[in-house]
Amino acid sequence: MLLMGSNFTISVVCENSKDADQAITTAVEEITRIERLISSWDDQSSTSAVNRMAGLQAVPVDSELMGLIERAQRLSILTNGAFDITYASMDRIWKFDGSVTVLPSKEEIKSSISKVGFNKIVLDKDNGTVFLKEKGMKIGFGAIGKGYAADQAMKLLKSMGIQAGIINASGDLNAWGKQPDGSDWNIAITNPLNKTKAFGVLPISNRSMATSGNYEKFLTIEGKRYAHIIDPRTGYPTSGIVSVSIFAHKAELADALATSVFVMGIETGLNLINQIPDVECIIVDESGQLFTSENLKIDTL
Ligand code: ADP
Ligand code: MG
Repeated sequence: MLLMGSNFTISVVCENSKDADQAITTAVEEITRIERLISSWDDQSSTSAVNRMAGLQAVPVDSELMGLIERAQRLSILTNGAFDITYASMDRIWKFDGSVTVLPSKEEIKSSISKVGFNKIVLDKDNGTVFLKEKGMKIGFGAIGKGYAADQAMKLLKSMGIQAGIINASGDLNAWGKQPDGSDWNIAITNPLNKTKAFGVLPISNRSMATSGNYEKFLTIEGKRYAHIIDPRTGYPTSGIVSVSIFAHKAELADALATSVFVMGIETGLNLINQIPDVECIIVDESGQLFTSENLKIDTL
């Protein structure tokens, strides 16, 4: 079903279909609640209020949004600024709806990155407020929100006693427990350049996976393809990598790191992932070549 602008699939293992229906309804309500909190399209959301007041005043937010922004800032530090929720002000010049057909000018790009910078988000935890220092600044959770929603929905279902399931937000997923026959859930790793051909299969259990770079949103300018992921440090969209999949213990982390590796590039990205315990990565480049982090083993590869 369509939630947060993406296709969510929720599967649960239950004794009967009534319990399953109830579990799925609960998960959908939770994801919808989170969408209302973090959507930058919904005028009524706290996130929109923060963006509207950029450069003007601090906005009270609840601790859930505060926590998410704080974790996003930590990820910016971890990734040397490759991941940055303030990338969002650049969506004024890079629109991925086909309306951009020539590269924006250097001046336009320069002025748009002047509004970018995770360290210009001021969190006042004592007063429970968020302030974006500059007018025109904007935050957006496009690269972390689906993972967060998948984590929260899983947490809720587990607390209801659901022993196994998968919450899949168009590729950003949480799998817990086992299939009804007792075996692990399996994830097919497909080649984004040839969707009918899988690279291999990975058993996953009590793990999260996220993939960045679905082929739906991109720009083609003068024959060059640009992904909808922007390097916040240069102001240009990334190119060269077609997809990044990350495995981690939380979908939020996997989601954010997938976007980050896209920006960092193959070498720097793999270096970072190899340094984080229990996090693995698969990268596919433009020519269809596969790169994996050190500890990843894919069956049949
Ligand atoms: P997908 O939407 O394919 O799952 P991602 O999880 O990587 O991909 O999210 C991409 C989205 O993240 C973009 O559409 C945009 O909203 C946002 N984004 C783009 N660049 C960055 C960045 N450098 N840091 C944080 N968010 C970004
Ligand atoms: Mg992501």
